[in-house]
Amino acid sequence: MAVELLDCMGNDLTITNMARQSFGRRKGELSDADIGLLNSLASPPSGVPHGAPWEHVVFQFKVWTSIRVAREWMRHRIGSFSEISTRYAEMKAGVMETPRPRAQHGKPMQYTFEEITGPLGETMVEIFEDSLAMSLGAYHRLLEMGASKEWAAYVLPLATITEFSWTVNFRSLSNFMALRTHETALAEFRKEAMAVETLVMTKVPHAMDAWNNAGRPSL
Ligand SMILES: Cc1cc2nc3c(=O)[nH]c(=O)nc-3n(C[C@H](O)[C@H](O)[C@H](O)COP(=O)(O)OP(=O)(O)OC[C@H]3O[C@@H](n4cnc5c(N)ncnc54)[C@H](O)[C@@H]3O)c2cc1C
Repeated sequence: MAVELLDCMGNDLTITNMARQSFGRRKGELSDADIGLLNSLASPPSGVPHGAPWEHVVFQFKVWTSIRVAREWMRHRIGSFSEISTRYAEMKAGVMETPRPRAQHGKPMQYTFEEITGPLGETMVEIFEDSLAMSLGAYHRLLEMGASKEWAAYVLPLATITEFSWTVNFRSLSNFMALRTHETALAEFRKEAMAVETLVMTKVPHAMDAWNNAGRPSL
């Protein structure tokens, strides 16, 4: 599972320049005033964040992750996805590394998860990995026997690694990061979202600080 930043259009200054557009003004270099403006945009006195300027910074990521996580990722509609095709390409990347088994406690909307350790945990890992190996083996056998990739793909498990490109603006990304790095998010997705956030931080560090200082609001 991996996330790579393919491309990025814009930076901290892009956001403040888009906000200054209201006054027909534009600056060439980031200053303390811009950092102040970023904080005001994320947390204005009115209490209503000014979100549109953040849309002008656009990121493009390449992601390798399980079909399970990809399915949840693509629920984020404000962005564009292109995914490897199970018709044209053989799913060669295999399956995700087995996460530690966990039990679920509590009730809907308030679940907590606890790692299952000891012999029971090891037995669960064994069952999990045997099942994946059997499904993957079936996929490759079917292909060898002459089945089309798109037909054989039906036997692939949710743990199969898929790959996709994702183009998304910073406003939508802030919503994604708030939801998917949260402790309630699916643990495997949370790791990927944190990797995304680390990459975003390299391109818009001051905007990220402003957004974090404001409490990671919906922009
Ligand atoms: C912990 C967790 C559990 C989840 N469990 C489930 C589940 O059990 N089942 C399930 O189906 N989904 C589930 N989801 C997915 C969730 O419902 C969202 O689909 C997903 O998080 C994308 O969020 P979003 O709609 O805010 O993002 P985007 O689709 O990127 O949208 C961004 C924003 O644009 C606006 N927007 C987008 N489309 C519309 C629209 N059609 N109408 C009005 N406004 C719109 C909204 O303000 C939205 O917040 C879960 C998500 C999380 C984080």
